[in-house]
Amino acid sequence: MAEIIPGGHFLVRPLGDRIVTPEGFSDEQREFMKTARDFVKKEIVPRAAAIEKKDLPLLRQLLAKAGELGFLSVDVPESCGGLGLDKTTSMILAEAMNGSGSWAVTFGAHVGIGTLPIVFFGNDAQRAKYLPKLASGEWVGAYALTEAGAGSDALGIRCKAELRGDRYLLNGTKQWITNAGMADVFTVFAKVDGSKFSAFVVERTDPGVSIGPEEHKLGLRGSSTCEVILEDAEIPADRLLGRVGRGHRIAFGILFLGRLKLGIAAIGGAKETLEVAIKYAKERRQFDRAIVEFGLIREKLARVASRLYACESMGYRTSGLIDAYVAEPPKKQRSHEEHVQSALEEYGIESAMLKVYGSEMLDFAVDEALQVFGGYGYTEHFDVERYYRDSRINRIFEGTNEINRLLVSGTLLRRVKKNELPLPALAQRVAAALDEPQRLPSYAAGEVLGGERQTVERLKWLAAHLATVAVANNKDELDQRQDLLGTLADLLIDAYAAESALLRTMQLVATHGADAVPVARAMTAVVVDECAAAAERQARLLAGCVLEGAALERTCGQIELLLRRPQPQLFGHLEAIAARLAEDEGYRIPA
Ligand SMILES: Cc1cc2nc3c(=O)[nH]c(=O)nc-3n(C[C@H](O)[C@H](O)[C@H](O)COP(=O)(O)OP(=O)(O)OC[C@H]3O[C@@H](n4cnc5c(N)ncnc54)[C@H](O)[C@@H]3O)c2cc1C
Repeated sequence: MAEIIPGGHFLVRPLGDRIVTPEGFSDEQREFMKTARDFVKKEIVPRAAAIEKKDLPLLRQLLAKAGELGFLSVDVPESCGGLGLDKTTSMILAEAMNGSGSWAVTFGAHVGIGTLPIVFFGNDAQRAKYLPKLASGEWVGAYALTEAGAGSDALGIRCKAELRGDRYLLNGTKQWITNAGMADVFTVFAKVDGSKFSAFVVERTDPGVSIGPEEHKLGLRGSSTCEVILEDAEIPADRLLGRVGRGHRIAFGILFLGRLKLGIAAIGGAKETLEVAIKYAKERRQFDRAIVEFGLIREKLARVASRLYACESMGYRTSGLIDAYVAEPPKKQRSHEEHVQSALEEYGIESAMLKVYGSEMLDFAVDEALQVFGGYGYTEHFDVERYYRDSRINRIFEGTNEINRLLVSGTLLRRVKKNELPLPALAQRVAAALDEPQRLPSYAAGEVLGGERQTVERLKWLAAHLATVAVANNKDELDQRQDLLGTLADLLIDAYAAESALLRTMQLVATHGADAVPVARAMTAVVVDECAAAAERQARLLAGCVLEGAALERTCGQIELLLRRPQPQLFGHLEAIAARLAEDEGYRIPA
């Protein structure tokens, strides 16, 4: 049984945790991935143009086909007719369901925010009524939280619910609801008596429910996004989901898994993007050569692949942590679904980091891919133009990246305060070692991955040290210090990304030998270098948030000392990665 590593503890543990990686997928998981990829190749890719025209009946048919293959029931418990599979398999599916951003979001919203509120918070009767229909694709699900005046500030919704006898009357307008144009069932958030934040299951055919016209969006043009209008909408009282006044647990609880899935779905999108960019770069000739031969084009492809590798490593590491937690019996008396929910909450920091890193990695990938296509990329002749538009939303929904950054550092510091994360003990060690630098982590020159191990260990030490310095020197309420929280979040994300890539490569080296995995090693070197360089800047900014004068000078010296590292032969690594990408015509590394 895998060891349970509590959420956020990656920061304080010595390097060397065993993590779940794509190389370690079980035969069943591989089979699932293959079936999902075949489905996308056969059913989605040939219909991408039709999907883009917002053919909602087609999307419904595709959801039903996905339902026949079990793709809609991976997170639905067996007791409700679902497959109840582990979260790593659920993530594999989220990664594979691509071929069209509009399809991916339609599918993702249905199986995620559209279905999971009932899975996790529904009572037996609600689950029995809705889950079989949602799991088969007979019904489509949606989640209606956002309003014109309440986006990030979701608790500020104005939609009201009033109990009248055995019915609730709902009034208000929900905005930008994915799948609304075709959904049969919505989880709607409203305030009972204007103050108690609560959740309700609303059916499309309930009296007083109407759907607004489709939005005209920058991207995801094939997916449905509309208002849901509730005018004295009458719903039976037994459609209350969970308890009155506890709807925030549902609204935010569901987003933990949503963020994880979004981060992983970005991997699928980036693989597809990289593949089209590589193929084009091999075909397009300028100056009598294929543009893939030019160093600056090769560098782009290699950098995208390296961030992709880091994201993949973070993503499956995180789903593996959740699966290990779920595999242990719950400490308190809890249903299985409550246990899963508490696992998702435990790794809320990791999921939010993945959401931020994945969405920004995908934006980087589509931007660089468009550049590879030159002017052709800017026209509708090639799919890359659509990828570019579709990608942008990922930094906005499931909590904007700003909100997720605040969540990463805010949650981490709260856990430290509650003595759930032994950061002060590590920070003390770091402070002592800074006075005696021979005690800082270091590896002998020439040791396999030695430079990367040193940098990553020190990166974590740096984050622990600066988090402690920042808290000790800050006189304001922490949640008012977004400069501090934002820079700390970036440091943490860089540390998690770099460490995840490194741990994966260390496992590959241990299994196959260093010489057998040169490209994985090269990608790790690139990622660790990028993360360390970014972290150095964030660290200085963070120090400047709370210190000045001599104390700031001293801390900047410590930052420089901690991140002093051997300079890798970066262009050699980038070239090795690019050569493999060109040969494989896509990202097939290292599995
Ligand atoms: C295509 C699409 C599909 C969607 N699907 C759904 C859906 O199915 N269901 C649903 O309920 N909603 C959905 N949404 C809504 C989405 O979740 C919100 O757009 C998102 O939560 C952000 O809210 P907002 O757009 O009102 O931005 P705002 O909250 O107004 O934010 C604007 C900017 O201010 C920043 N900001 C806000 N608060 C803070 C803060 N405290 N500190 C620092 N910066 C801050 C934000 O990060 C952002 O950059 C969808 C949106 C789109 C565009």
